[in-house]
Amino acid sequence: MPIQALPDTLVNQIAAGEVVERPASVVKELVENALDAGARRVDIDLEEGGVRLIRIRDDGGGIPSSELALAISRHATSKITSIEDLEEVATLGFRGEALPSIASVSRFAISARPRGEDQGARLEVDGGRVGEVVPHPHPEGTTVEVRDLFFNVPARRKFLRAERTELGHIEEWLRSLALARPGVELRISHNGRASRHYKPVRDGGERLRRVAEALGEDFTRQCLAIEHAAAGLRLHGWVGLPTAARSSADQQYFYVNGRAVRDRTVAHAVRQAYSDVLFHGRHPAFVLFLECDPRQVDVNVHPAKHEVRFREQRLVHEFIYRTLHEALASTRAGVAAAAAA
Ligand code: ADP
Ligand code: MG
Repeated sequence: MPIQALPDTLVNQIAAGEVVERPASVVKELVENALDAGARRVDIDLEEGGVRLIRIRDDGGGIPSSELALAISRHATSKITSIEDLEEVATLGFRGEALPSIASVSRFAISARPRGEDQGARLEVDGGRVGEVVPHPHPEGTTVEVRDLFFNVPARRKFLRAERTELGHIEEWLRSLALARPGVELRISHNGRASRHYKPVRDGGERLRRVAEALGEDFTRQCLAIEHAAAGLRLHGWVGLPTAARSSADQQYFYVNGRAVRDRTVAHAVRQAYSDVLFHGRHPAFVLFLECDPRQVDVNVHPAKHEVRFREQRLVHEFIYRTLHEALASTRAGVAAAAAA
């Protein structure tokens, strides 16, 4: 075969392989877009575990009708303009590939109205085939609809699991998000029935209420509050008491500058801090937020952005370990006393 440039739709479908693993990844990308647009409320309607339908409506800044076509074009973003911007990116998105990727593997529609425009607009994309922007009534904000995910990618469709499993992944992702953004109201419905409603709470003391809603009161009744800053780093949130340790690592939420991440340095520091207060095979529960200078952390490691790279990995490890070790000291005394008795 001669060398030839791939058509846009195929390029997007290939990129979708990295960004869109399952319905939960679509929900993640779309809700992150809503948050980046300053939404205070996000409605998430699902059908058949998100495979049949994912509809996300937000009350954020909306998109001008003149930019709708750009929003679904590859590498088009309103979030960065230079490599310097990328160095200190504060938004969850920046790669400009989620919408074109999702639109290339589904029956997709985006409708929006920005503040100041008196009419909304809508654009449909069918498996990558882009339609016309047409006038469409819409309140201020944006709605994205994704139907029949992977209808044109049978190899991917085969890997979708049962409705309940896919729904479980979506709910888990939304739980993680609800913990990070307590001020945002989230309403979730599945197959026409309201399934979850995270009411907005104010910053400060009320935050624990959101944690209780997301993780249950078993966690909030047996946790320590963490708040410590040093060397340009700040760690805050809650860690479960050793007595509330779990048989699996199912309640471990860690965020770097508001972004949920999985990181080995972090995981190791936490495990080490708990090492002498936990029995072997037990796992701590925690909701922890690390804030640092965005230039100290690279978030552009993988398209799905679950991973980060710290510039000063050892400093971060030491800071997390020390902070938690000290916080857990009181419980260690308790454990020693119990052992001596
Ligand atoms: P990225 O988030 O990396 O910029 P996306 O493909 O997810 O890329 O979105 C492309 C662009 O479309 C965004 O930069 C933003 O300008 C616009 N956009 C997408 N979703 C929304 C939304 N819910 N509200 C406002 N603008 C949006
Ligand atoms: Mg995005």
